[in-house]
Amino acid sequence: MPELPEVETVRSTLEPRLVGRRFDEVEIADSRLTRPIDPAEVAAELTGERVAAVARRGKYLIVRFESGLVLLIHLRMTGSLVHTTNGAAVSDPHSRAVVKLDDGSDVTYRDVRRFGTWLVLAEDELDPYLSERLGLEPLDPGFTSRDLAARLEGRKTPVKAALLDQRTLAGVGNIYADEALWRARIHPRRPAGELDPAEIRALHRAIRRALEAGIERQGATLRDYRTPDGGSGRMQHEFKVYGREGEPCIRCGGPIEKTRLGGRGSWFCPICQR
Ligand SMILES: [Zn+2]
Repeated sequence: MPELPEVETVRSTLEPRLVGRRFDEVEIADSRLTRPIDPAEVAAELTGERVAAVARRGKYLIVRFESGLVLLIHLRMTGSLVHTTNGAAVSDPHSRAVVKLDDGSDVTYRDVRRFGTWLVLAEDELDPYLSERLGLEPLDPGFTSRDLAARLEGRKTPVKAALLDQRTLAGVGNIYADEALWRARIHPRRPAGELDPAEIRALHRAIRRALEAGIERQGATLRDYRTPDGGSGRMQHEFKVYGREGEPCIRCGGPIEKTRLGGRGSWFCPICQR
């Protein structure tokens, strides 16, 4: 599933291609994308809108229009957006929506498992919608280790599960939670509320470094994730623990273990993560 680094890569790639462009034609072929709203209604609302900004909050992509209207996109499991300039939005069985821009280029939304969502909101509806669902942005310069401590305080839930909860922090998912916990030398099953101040500081730094490493490498392509120019991320070649069961820990040489935590595969080093 695309996490913060993948969605940020999509945002930064689309931004220069979308800002200032008008949505000339919008075709939404899958009613699951917009439900319970009729896709034809959403397509009509978006048609003629000119893009003012492309932003991100957590794993949400936010397309802001000059009119104040907002399109909020969540890629969920397998959603991706591809921008093509040569009318190459060819027939793809997994294409769910196509937007034709006023410069002749196309943005195609493709989604194999069809869990992604497109939601149109008025300007004043966006912040209440997001703040109900999301905690702080981990890469926001104002996000401190004290903020993280406050979010974890008193929680008996495993720290890995606390990091996956989008209301703790926005944008961290299964990959970057495992990577951050390895960097911080913290076992994923430790109760979140039991971390000491030094561990919280280490985790705060580790979360940021893991996410920044992902952004620098344009995210991780495991199966479906693509950058909007059709390329792959490179982060999957540099995972410290994620998906490396049985391989040596690059810090201590011991074998990486896999466990299931909250229904998700979790990778960690049993020697250096305490
Ligand atoms: Zn180790």
